Amino acid sequence: KLDNHLSGRHFLHIPGPSPVPSRILRAISYQTIDHRGPEFGEFGLKVLDGIKKIFKTEQPVIIYSASGTGSWEGALVNVLNTGDKVLFYETGHFANLWRALAKRIGIEVEVVGKAGQDTWRWGVDASVIEERLRKDTQHEIKAVCVVHNETSTGMTSNIAAVRKAIDDAKHPALLLVDSVSGLGSADYCHDTWGADVTVSGSQKGLMLPPGIGFNALSPKAIEASKRSTIPKAYLAWDEILESNKTGYWPTTPSTNLMYGLHEAIDMMQTEGLDTIFARHQRLAEACRRAVAAWGLENQCLDATAYSPVLTAIVVPEGMDADVLRKHALEKFNLSLGTGLGKLKGKIFRIGHLGDCNELSLMAALSGVEMSLGAMGYKPKASGVVAAQDYLK
Ligand code: PLP
Repeated sequence: KLDNHLSGRHFLHIPGPSPVPSRILRAISYQTIDHRGPEFGEFGLKVLDGIKKIFKTEQPVIIYSASGTGSWEGALVNVLNTGDKVLFYETGHFANLWRALAKRIGIEVEVVGKAGQDTWRWGVDASVIEERLRKDTQHEIKAVCVVHNETSTGMTSNIAAVRKAIDDAKHPALLLVDSVSGLGSADYCHDTWGADVTVSGSQKGLMLPPGIGFNALSPKAIEASKRSTIPKAYLAWDEILESNKTGYWPTTPSTNLMYGLHEAIDMMQTEGLDTIFARHQRLAEACRRAVAAWGLENQCLDATAYSPVLTAIVVPEGMDADVLRKHALEKFNLSLGTGLGKLKGKIFRIGHLGDCNELSLMAALSGVEMSLGAMGYKPKASGVVAAQDYLK
């Protein structure tokens, strides 16, 4: 057992849940009120209006008491019919999990990716989607599902390009986007990028604890929901949209997480979305410079898809990334993200999202550098110094 008493603060650098600022924690601790009482409706309307600004949409945003997975399911069951065919672009573990969920609820899934390319290392190639849709002359494909920020591989894809691919193919498929880890950290424009449903969650860029999830809608998605026959109840949009008109929910909402969401929206608007996105880009660049100085490989090989949210780092042959992570946790009180799916043991992930600044990132990089040393790895150069040189 490593000699560590875990004093001082914990450095939570997984790519979500991200650290919750104390201002948000305090808001969450306010007394729970009557969710059908007079105060709640006004509060509910404020939150429903505020969250639209984060998605950059004029359309309704559904707030579920559910994690990202429940919100994935919400997106599918509201716009599809049993047996519908849906295209999934494989960018990593989360694209695969969403696809597996779709299959379990009776959707016919088809996976696409660029031939001859390790799609877990490159962002979405929209031309592959366009080509597939052009072949679907009978319009059997009802939706295209893509992950905006693939948290398992550290890649952010161009959603506007996917919309353009669907339009250029003159195909009526809906565009369903997972921005569970992108929203609030990487720029996201639900309306102008033409997403039909955007799925998100509370525990990443929004700096909240896990527990609430989102579906941002388009008029086309709302129309599709009126024709959708998949059995649904709790996740159905119709009753929620009706109640939301007056700021209420048909069931008991997560009142205290909503207090936190209200606070988060206020904090994000005060800092400014563009400033937040620039901060994430800056920290991500510093992290990548550290990785290069260590002489390690970024899981993402596509410079146009580098994620501002997290960096996934390939460990050298013979090193177990989870042993390195265990060391960082036990010795330095630093949590790093594990490799998911086929990347288990092969990569670790550094989250630099949400309430993160230069010095919290530097602490994480320092912990990684010391842990690499403890694994017997001799870095080419100091990643800490490389990141500092960039940040200063
Ligand atoms: N999609 C992405 C991109 C994620 O990163 C996650 C969780 O990390 C999910 C979906 C699933 O969300 P949850 O774990 O909140 O159900």
